[in-house]
Amino acid sequence: MKPLGPIPPGYAAIDGELAIGGRKASELVAEAGTPLFVYDGALIEARVAALRSALPQRLGLHYAMKANPFAPLLRHIAGLVDGFDIASGGELLMAEAAGVQAERISFAGPGKRDADLEAAISRGVTLNLESAREAERALVIAERVGRAPKLAIRVNPDFDLKGSGMKMGGGAKPFGVDTDGVPALARTIIASGAEWRGFHIYAGSQTLDAAAIVEMQAATLTLAARLAEESGAVLPVCNLGGGFGIPYFPGDLPLDLAAVGAALAKRFAALPEVLQETAFCIELGRYLVGEAGVYLTRIIDRKESHGEVFLVTDGGLHHQLAASGNFGTVVRRNYPSAIATRFGASVEEEASVVGCLCTPLDRLADKGGFPRAEEGDLVAVFCAGAYGASASPVHFLGHGPAAERLVNARS
Ligand SMILES: *Cc1c(COP(=O)(O)O)cnc(C)c1O
Repeated sequence: MKPLGPIPPGYAAIDGELAIGGRKASELVAEAGTPLFVYDGALIEARVAALRSALPQRLGLHYAMKANPFAPLLRHIAGLVDGFDIASGGELLMAEAAGVQAERISFAGPGKRDADLEAAISRGVTLNLESAREAERALVIAERVGRAPKLAIRVNPDFDLKGSGMKMGGGAKPFGVDTDGVPALARTIIASGAEWRGFHIYAGSQTLDAAAIVEMQAATLTLAARLAEESGAVLPVCNLGGGFGIPYFPGDLPLDLAAVGAALAKRFAALPEVLQETAFCIELGRYLVGEAGVYLTRIIDRKESHGEVFLVTDGGLHHQLAASGNFGTVVRRNYPSAIATRFGASVEEEASVVGCLCTPLDRLADKGGFPRAEEGDLVAVFCAGAYGASASPVHFLGHGPAAERLVNARS
């Protein structure tokens, strides 16, 4: 038997069934069908509250919306965080539709097209510039539309986040401007009459190691101070990136938020002159929403092959690519999962949960221990609130999208 990842806190059983936001899985799928993503709004609120209480007040909290752009979830989270970080013109429209004011939006991402730059500039969205050439194009477009653009530089830091799932900084990268080119570009932007919005320094994602985040944030502040000095101007804004991970796999332990907060508070109490007036923020995706989502599928067939049990579901990697192990992981390990209609029942057999796609890659749980499940039972895959529905190849094999629901959201 292979271990399953840890089921996140906040999921109880009602009448022997998984409940999400106080509603039984069978009830939710009776309304919305399967496959279904359910997001618990109260768990997102609780996560934001935990961050607010652990981290210094001075630190703004942004949502990196590529983690989950489901419209009701965006509206919910818009009332909870200080800003939104977007990565495309499409996300700009979605953030706008969710009622997020342009002043609260910043736009990072390589390959911004002229139309994207124009949309952002004419609305007053901050651009996190990925290259000197992008800065030139933004200034030309700003001139044409007659608005002073809000410009920040995305810095490609000389370090990366240790223990990070996806390395985004350190060495040659398509993201951001190499540090040695930053001061000159900052001077150009400031001299152009643009509204100078400082630095965006993002060094990686998905770490559970508080010490690694503390070290990264310290290095980020040191780098920001040096680059601000060399740019000859105080720094109005500094986005410190994110990187806060969630436990997905067996043995993973939650990030020690208190340790991160305490170390950052100390740093903030001893900032150099050039950062005294700086507005700081972090940008989080999965940490805010990942554990608040569950992917529910129904067992269509129960079969055995060469002595192994396969629970064949109506879902699969076309909705939840990451759980199949095909989204940026090297070694496939099991996400947390359970038989939702027998939640909390004891383990009776080893079974693999597979999807309905004709590819051996389509495996949601490999040789896990489950109570005996039958046709019609529901399977829950946890940690499905981030990089699920919108980060999976939904058109592959033509089964169509999963339904999505936000429950338990007061706002
Ligand atoms: C994807 C991304 C994030 C969010 O990453 P998570 O691991 O989901 O927190 C934040 N900032 C940038 C620049 C990103 O590209």
